Amino acid sequence: MRDGDRLRIDLPAAVSSVLGGLAAVGEEAALVGGCVRDLVLGAQPVDWDVATSAAPEAVARQFPGATWENPFGTVVVRDAGEGPGIEVTTYRVETGYRDRRRPDQVRWGRSLADDLARRDFTINAMAWLPDDLAAGSGRLVDPFDGAADLDARLLRAVGDPDARFGEDALRLVRAVRFASRFEMRIDPATEAAIRRHASAAAGLSGERVRDELLRIMAGAPPSSRAFELMERLGLLDVLLPELAALRGIPQAKRLAGDALDHSLRAADALPADDPVLRLAGLLHDLGKATTLADGHFIHHEKAGERLAEGVLLRLRSPRAEISRITRLVHHHMFAYDADWTDAAVRRFVRRVGPDLLPDLFALRAADDVASGAHEPGRGGWSELQRRAAAAIASDPLEAKHLAVSGDDLVAELEIAPGPVIGRLLAELLEAVLEDPTLNSRDRLLALVRERVANGDQTHHEPGGGATARR
Ligand code: ATP
Ligand code: MG
Repeated sequence: MRDGDRLRIDLPAAVSSVLGGLAAVGEEAALVGGCVRDLVLGAQPVDWDVATSAAPEAVARQFPGATWENPFGTVVVRDAGEGPGIEVTTYRVETGYRDRRRPDQVRWGRSLADDLARRDFTINAMAWLPDDLAAGSGRLVDPFDGAADLDARLLRAVGDPDARFGEDALRLVRAVRFASRFEMRIDPATEAAIRRHASAAAGLSGERVRDELLRIMAGAPPSSRAFELMERLGLLDVLLPELAALRGIPQAKRLAGDALDHSLRAADALPADDPVLRLAGLLHDLGKATTLADGHFIHHEKAGERLAEGVLLRLRSPRAEISRITRLVHHHMFAYDADWTDAAVRRFVRRVGPDLLPDLFALRAADDVASGAHEPGRGGWSELQRRAAAAIASDPLEAKHLAVSGDDLVAELEIAPGPVIGRLLAELLEAVLEDPTLNSRDRLLALVRERVANGDQTHHEPGGGATARR
């Protein structure tokens, strides 16, 4: 397939009506970017992007209900269905990337050729121009030989690679994403330019880097290849120095390799449809770089938790994501043996939190795969997993499962509401974790009366706020 060749496409009705609507008012409109690349590969595109000669205002007028989302002239046309919407972008030429983050000026281009020339890689710089929409027939517009590069599995920058990476450093990371996703070699001139510009990736906004990293981790091929490529290109040191520092940290594991190899394998062993969990696998052993002493990594999970938090704050990850990953790093070293009492299992569930357990066991499974470790039949973590599930199904494990509430304590015992109530409930929960048969209203109230009578709750209140009401 090459420039000018005919290409027939099964267009979704919504895409066809956007292309047709623009043609009806005398404008040129073409499919561009990732969807054309996917079609040439014979794959089904995930989203469909349209580029047009029409100005954004004209596009918005043409499709009532369309939203004009940003100053770059992208209008999102939503079809009646639930679909993600079709992005329609006016032909443009970008100039002046002063801060190497985003174009500070966008000029509308005059032609499709201008628009393709500002795209990052040849495989992403192809278009499809329809000539008979009803028949799905049209021609490939491929001025940079992207189809030949796709065929040869070659990733190549459009135009002068130094200029392209100098304009936008995100393209450095995108190069890694596309090379690993399509299992491509990087063209030597493009690769040399990436190495020369690698340090500029430090200036990228955390959000944009996070977005690319999650897209890399969500890919079907093992994400380790992408990170190895990043390391070879000098990007890992710049983007994730905490991870790069694991290179050369020795591991006494059945599988060969250092702590970086181990971390990459752990990420690979986690599901690709949960890139955040894969990220937890990638970061779980960060602490090994700073706790290496006689090969024992004492408390590396605590050091690792802090390092992972630093990485995630820099990437501007949402709070819930930071919490999920740092809790996993914190707890990943749990050790279990078959002698644990049921109470010990309940305390473990309480400590980790029932919500985190599925992730934590998934991480342990991946950690084992990445170490070449085999679980013992008895006393292995899957035994703990079964026992924890049984406890969650039948035992009181949280304050809300107690047979009394804070209000009950206030009403029955005439204790003034305040922090002491929370502490009494926590003590009751401790007692119930030890012995679930205590979890009845009478027994719990009796237990509290006993403690209050002993004075050990009401008098230790530092602010003096826990005095009995009379
Ligand atoms: P995917 O299938 O992963 O979405 P994609 O190629 O569609 O891949 P997008 O990030 O959705 O990637 O971008 C759509 C198109 O916009 C790209 O194919 C490329 O032509 C262009 N593009 C996106 N980001 C850049 C950039 N930073 N520099 C130049 N062109 C870009
Ligand atoms: Mg896309």
